[in-house]
Amino acid sequence: MKFNLAQALIFGLLAWTGIAQAVDCEAVRARFQCDTTTKYPLHLSFDDGPALQTTDVLNVLKQEKIPATFFVIASKVDCPAIQKQCKIDHPNEAKVCTQSVHECEQRKQILLQTKQAGHVIGSHSYEHLHYSEVEPKLMREHFRLARQVLDPYLNTSPPLFRLPYGDGWFNREQQPQVLQALKETGFQHIAWQLSAFDWDEKNQQGDKILSNVLEQVCTRKQGGVVLFHDGVHDQLQQGRLFTTTHLKEWIPSLRCVVDFKPLSFFEKGYTPRR
Ligand SMILES: [Zn+2]
Repeated sequence: MKFNLAQALIFGLLAWTGIAQAVDCEAVRARFQCDTTTKYPLHLSFDDGPALQTTDVLNVLKQEKIPATFFVIASKVDCPAIQKQCKIDHPNEAKVCTQSVHECEQRKQILLQTKQAGHVIGSHSYEHLHYSEVEPKLMREHFRLARQVLDPYLNTSPPLFRLPYGDGWFNREQQPQVLQALKETGFQHIAWQLSAFDWDEKNQQGDKILSNVLEQVCTRKQGGVVLFHDGVHDQLQQGRLFTTTHLKEWIPSLRCVVDFKPLSFFEKGYTPRR
């Protein structure tokens, strides 16, 4: 059988829309033994950015009209500090430092875009440390710096904060000084109820990360704030590539089981600020 041009176009269009809607929700729910009638509320949060590939995440969220929260590492957008350190590390290589400041400005721009897109921006501290093990004076200094450097971007009142590794939150009974210092700096801590475990390399294949989230939601029969990563904490420009490049594919399957909600659905006590 031969196709004429019109048939070929129609066939192509059908194939394309078919790919766009290829998710069989019944199969997704069966695989994770999800309740067939319930949609659980879910909020996407992303840690360790901003990175260059954060823009890929922003594009997906825009297309899908999903509100999200980004907990960013302040030192990644502290361009004067980056320049100062670069001059110490590379005293005779002005070009190297011009480049790193340029990259820092790129990350600031991406963070500004994140804010302009209406997403919540919170602090993930100044550096990515286990703060329960950090000397109290330095810990306080990092929280203060995070607030100062991120001030143009933090868009809630009080500003929000998520501790790296959750250290100081999960162990808050043994290490109350961390949350105490956060409170003194004026931050409200935001934890997570579900984790994509996307930082773990063994999950960065197939649809393991998607499965991690759906398994937790359907086993516990509840949604919550889910932790993803758009950045890598010890790499300035690099995003968490498996997440930034695959997020788009995961959304249709997630929608079989969850409804995307704003952070305010789960977390009270703060007001959005533009
Ligand atoms: Zn982190």
